[in-house]
Amino acid sequence: MTYEIVCNSCGAPLYSGFDLRSPGDVLKATDYRCRKCGTKLALSRFQVDVRKIDGSFD
Ligand SMILES: [Zn+2]
Repeated sequence: MTYEIVCNSCGAPLYSGFDLRSPGDVLKATDYRCRKCGTKLALSRFQVDVRKIDGSFD
């Protein structure tokens, strides 16, 4: 199972991994910005998209 937290502006993954992490921790690690598009991601406005990916790519 893989979790993904993505930028709600460009859809770039901010975090992807096997552990479900809190959006606050993920945003803090990226300095509250999307590393791809540079959008400032205020936690209060940030809509987190957590995806569960089952890892099968048939
Ligand atoms: Zn972005």
